[in-house]
Amino acid sequence: MKINKFSKKPLDALERTNNNLVISYHVEKQKDNNLKVLLEERKKIYLINEVIIPPRDAKCFKVKAGQFFRIECIEGSQVGDLNLFNADNLNEKFYSGKTRALYGTHLSVGDRMYSNFPYLRSMATISWDSLDWYGYDNDGASVHDVIGTRCDPYTLKLLSGDDYHYCCHSNLLRALIREKGIDLNKAENLIHDVLNVFMCTGFTNDTKQYFMKASPSRKGDYLEFYAETNILGILSACPGGDCSESHSSDQAACFPLKVSIWQNKNGIKNLFTSNISNYSKSHGLD
Ligand SMILES: [Zn+2]
Repeated sequence: MKINKFSKKPLDALERTNNNLVISYHVEKQKDNNLKVLLEERKKIYLINEVIIPPRDAKCFKVKAGQFFRIECIEGSQVGDLNLFNADNLNEKFYSGKTRALYGTHLSVGDRMYSNFPYLRSMATISWDSLDWYGYDNDGASVHDVIGTRCDPYTLKLLSGDDYHYCCHSNLLRALIREKGIDLNKAENLIHDVLNVFMCTGFTNDTKQYFMKASPSRKGDYLEFYAETNILGILSACPGGDCSESHSSDQAACFPLKVSIWQNKNGIKNLFTSNISNYSKSHGLD
C-alpha cells in the first residue's frame, strides 16, 4: 500500500509521471483465430463424465486434449479455486501470474490458461462464460480472477493466529495427495496459484488493495474450457462460499460445484496444437 510519502517529491515529478501507457503483451491476434473454431465446435459436444465437488473440499478430474470441461454452480452462488496440471507431467502447471500479465486481472471467453516455465503453452482456452455479461462493475471488480492466489492456512495464521484446515490450499493439497499418493511436501510444492472461478474481486481505487464482493453467480452459471493438453484438474469449493463476507472459516454458506467433461461428436479431435516453448534455453550461458 503506497499510503506513506516519506520521500520528497522532485521538481520534475510531473514530467516523470506523465509518460504514455504501453500495453505490455499483445495477445489479441492469437486469441481471435482459435475462438471462432471453438465457438462452433462447442455446439457439437456431449456429456461424458461428471464430478461433484463437496463444499469446503476439493476433487481431481481428468480431461483429455480435445475435450471440453465445465465448472458449474449447481445449488447456490459458490466460488471455486482451480489448479491445472499437465496430466502426464505434474511439473507443468497453470501459471496465473503470466496469464494475468497476458490477459489482465480477470479471465473470460477466448483467454488461455498458460503453463509455467520452461513450458509456457496454453493448457486450456475458455470457450464459454455465462457471466461474461458482468464485465467490470463500478468498483472495477469482475469475476474469474487471477489476482487472488488462493485462501490458505498460512496467511490466516499470520494475520489472526487461528488454525483452519479447509482453506482452498489445504483442500487442493488433500485432493492431490489422494489422487497421486505423494507425500505432503511434494504436494505442497505442486499446488499453485489458482483461477478464482466465479469470485468477484478487484483492487481498490485508492490503496489498490485486493477486495472481494458477493459473487454474481447463480445456480446454472458455468465457465467452460477447451483442453489443449491432457489435464489433471483440481477444483476446491472455497470455504468462503460466494465470498461476500469472509473466507478461511466455517462461517459462510457453502455449496457444491460440478465439473463436467464433454466430448466432440467426432470423438477426441485436438483442434489446436499446443506446443511447449521452443526457446533454446540458452539463457546467455553458452
Ligand atoms: Zn478459497
